[in-house]
Amino acid sequence: MKKIVILGSTGSIGTQTLEVIEEQKDDFTAFGIVGGSNIDLLTEQALKYQPEWVGIYDETKYQELKNRLPESINIVAGERGVFELVSHSGYQILVAAISGIAGLKSTIKGIEAGKVIALANKETLVAGGNLILDLVKKHNTYLLPVDSEHSAIFQCLNENRKLKKIILTASGGPFRDYSEAQLQKVTLEDALKHPNWSMGKKITIDSATLANKALEIIEAHYLFDCSYENIDVLIHKESIIHSMVEFVDTSILAQLGYPSMKLPIQFALSYPNSLITNWKSLDLSQIGTLNFSKPKSYFKALSLGIEAGKKGGSYPVVYNGANEKAVEFFLNRKIGFMEISQLIETALNQIPSFKINSFEDIEHIDKTTREFLVRGIR
Ligand code: NDP
Ligand code: MG
Repeated sequence: MKKIVILGSTGSIGTQTLEVIEEQKDDFTAFGIVGGSNIDLLTEQALKYQPEWVGIYDETKYQELKNRLPESINIVAGERGVFELVSHSGYQILVAAISGIAGLKSTIKGIEAGKVIALANKETLVAGGNLILDLVKKHNTYLLPVDSEHSAIFQCLNENRKLKKIILTASGGPFRDYSEAQLQKVTLEDALKHPNWSMGKKITIDSATLANKALEIIEAHYLFDCSYENIDVLIHKESIIHSMVEFVDTSILAQLGYPSMKLPIQFALSYPNSLITNWKSLDLSQIGTLNFSKPKSYFKALSLGIEAGKKGGSYPVVYNGANEKAVEFFLNRKIGFMEISQLIETALNQIPSFKINSFEDIEHIDKTTREFLVRGIR
């Protein structure tokens, strides 16, 4: 029985992880669940899944949570409380599914406690890069990808065959067929309508700008030790091929399935084994056609992210921080869709580059970037 702690249990990945745990009761159990501030859903989850521990980041909700849950469940609140739970010796796998850089510190705590990290939170690796990889090595543990593309690559890789290239597929989001002129006019409502995936708001906007694909390129670079030159992006609107690898002999392997995060979540939890499910098998005869194309150059968040990744140092941290803040502005209707990439570009051009030696440096640059954006739109 694998015992699991979920950071971000009240989110899209978190709730699907709990569904997987329920479907595979003989193999997995929820040892702990942690939410940000959604106390209603967290209470519902705690009563349904009966974890030993429940955590909530928002400390003001501690007493209310305590009133609602039976005494048999341990409750922690605030960052310190969550760290205590993450460091607990009673479980093995930490699902890192908080959205954004907010998930960085708790993931670090999990690594330091020697937990296997099922990593959904790509922002952690984008900003943390080699510092995260070094920490993972130091604590003798490993990262397992939950992001569907990275899970696909991970499933295709073969240690005996030398890798030539990674081909990351992308649905292209709701605007993949839009002209540059059409893109200027899109609204928040349009951007939140993802054609294939139901996800949290931040990643849904990232999918519309293609910033998500840039973050995934950087994530793939670190996870699979692959140079940026050898990572290609392919727009594939059906989201059936979740990504591919090409070996040096030009043989290409792909992983296919209906678009659902449950498989990558389950595979990270069951790794190295596969578990029987009652999910519908992919019927390619029903799908009929799979389409592929190159991303359009006016999705600037993609090229800016790739450039930031290649430059390294503080650039990916600035890219990530500027993107998060700009998406927050867009979600709050303070800026238009095209301004997201414009703000990222300005931040990358104007914030001086730093060498990164510690996680404190990352926090500092992230904070500087957010302040820069706030000044920029005032
Ligand atoms: P959601 O927005 O649906 O959920 C985010 C979770 O994080 C919620 O539990 C939320 O708590 C919590 N949270 C948010 N901000 C904070 C904060 N500042 N402090 C503490 N907790 C916080 O996001 P997703 O599930 O969509 O995404 C999670 C991560 O997984 C992201 O990094 C995303 O890029 C990645 N991912 C997601 C995919 C998907 O299909 N959804 C696919 C691949 C990767 P609460 O709501 O209680 O406040
Ligand atoms: Mg993905």
